[in-house]
Amino acid sequence: MITIKSHKEIDLMRHAGKIVAGAHALVAKMIKPGVTTQELDQAVEQYIREAEAIPTFKGYGGFPNSICASINEVVVHGIPQKRRLLEGDIVSVDIGATYQGYVGDAAVTHGVGTISDEAARLIAVTRESFYRGIAYAKDGFRLSDISNAIQTYVEENGFSVVRDYVGHGVGKQMHEDPPIPNYGPKGRGPRLRQGMTLAIEPMVNAGTYDVMTLKDGWTVVTTDGQLSSHYEHTVLITGTGEPELLTVI
Ligand code: MG
Repeated sequence: MITIKSHKEIDLMRHAGKIVAGAHALVAKMIKPGVTTQELDQAVEQYIREAEAIPTFKGYGGFPNSICASINEVVVHGIPQKRRLLEGDIVSVDIGATYQGYVGDAAVTHGVGTISDEAARLIAVTRESFYRGIAYAKDGFRLSDISNAIQTYVEENGFSVVRDYVGHGVGKQMHEDPPIPNYGPKGRGPRLRQGMTLAIEPMVNAGTYDVMTLKDGWTVVTTDGQLSSHYEHTVLITGTGEPELLTVI
């Protein structure tokens, strides 16, 4: 069942979202060759706790850390490591914060130092596909209108959309109904209504869309070893005709 959030709940989600956005701004400042994803994780955990929130991912299904840090061919759910980031890497950072029982969830892929033109294009297409998708995140459209817009833009640009992981409703739980695929025909699924809060998150591969999970049970990688990129915000369906991004400062 898709929940409609009250004004009070939306205010709490805005607050959670601002904490997530602040944590992302901190990460953006720290990303450079030589930093480890464990250092990013520790800084984010401290930031979230100082904001009187809880790092949503820590302990979720047994996940060990406060951020997911997914380097290069890692698609999602990368565990923070001691490995230092290298010039030319790309790293997707996914952060969740729970404030007074409500969750904000957002992800972005960073380039480390100077990256290849192809990696930069992958990151830019992933980000733009999110905005093409949320052009339909409006009261009255159907859920898969978002999915189809994302897939269409990504494939027009020669990349592929991950099938095995999808966006989701978000609120009191990190993962609520509905699942939100980043692919599929338009005009399907539930009709979007004011007060729905959705984590929309295209995961885009440079090569094929096939992925697999490593033996650690978490790390999802592209099966062809090519790069993958991620972009996510928590999005509110409003009554004004334009969606509101909750995970921004
Ligand atoms: Mg998410």
